[in-house]
Amino acid sequence: MIVIEDVHKSYGNQHILRACSATVSLGEVVVVCGPSGSGKSTLIKCINGLVPFERGTITVDGVSVSSPKTDLPALRSRIGMVFQSFELYPHMTALQNVSLAQIHVLKRSRAEADARSEKILARVGLGDKRDSRPSQLSGGQQQRVSIARALAMDPQAMLFDEPTSALDPEMINEVLEVMQELALEGMTMMVVTHEMGFAQRVADRVLFMDRGQIVEDTPKAQFFTAP
Ligand code: ADP
Ligand code: ADP
Repeated sequence: MIVIEDVHKSYGNQHILRACSATVSLGEVVVVCGPSGSGKSTLIKCINGLVPFERGTITVDGVSVSSPKTDLPALRSRIGMVFQSFELYPHMTALQNVSLAQIHVLKRSRAEADARSEKILARVGLGDKRDSRPSQLSGGQQQRVSIARALAMDPQAMLFDEPTSALDPEMINEVLEVMQELALEGMTMMVVTHEMGFAQRVADRVLFMDRGQIVEDTPKAQFFTAP
């Protein structure tokens, strides 16, 4: 589903990603971990074209990310992305946040989008919060809205960039549970996280990054039993 080959990325003279290669197969959950600053977030943002890279190739379901002809909005609608900082529109309700891209990118009618949004909000446990604005929601609820927003686009894969790092400890589980359910339903997922319990329960493979390189790519069983 996602094929990353020999990707290099620099900021100025700082070499951030060095020869990164990895694949994520259909239905697989891959957790990316490693020290802060090792390039995890940059790698994940390269996959949906948020960050341009200068060497190597990334394809998502056969579509090249780096080709000048790539339709980036189309690509991004096929890959859901969830950020550490939620990135919701503060002046819009939960429902409006979830419907917006469906209307503007997928060209769904407002009625169609809202119906879909309601269904997905219920699925992430927020059926009664559709009319709340982000400031009226807890961090855990806001992050579930942003997961719902991505899911409403019917993505083929989901990328998560430290989805629980900005949350108070008591809210982490409600977000991880939604993610775990998604994984069980067979969603292809790439997740940057420090939550090793989640990795142990849910990941099929764990990538370990260090200074811009993928230094380990191991099936979960091996990763967690290594000395
Ligand atoms: P991680 O997610 O593993 O913490 P990042 O991918 O966020 O790492 O960052 C890797 C390195 O790239 C860091 O040194 C960071 O400061 C640098 N970096 C990230 N984004 C930018 C940017 N837009 N401009 C310059 N340097 C950046
Ligand atoms: P997140 O973890 O939510 O992806 P970050 O806190 O890593 O966000 O980065 C926020 C923004 O700042 C990103 O657009 C990133 O590319 C940019 N950034 C990160 N590190 C640097 C840096 N050293 N210099 C310039 N921009 C940076």
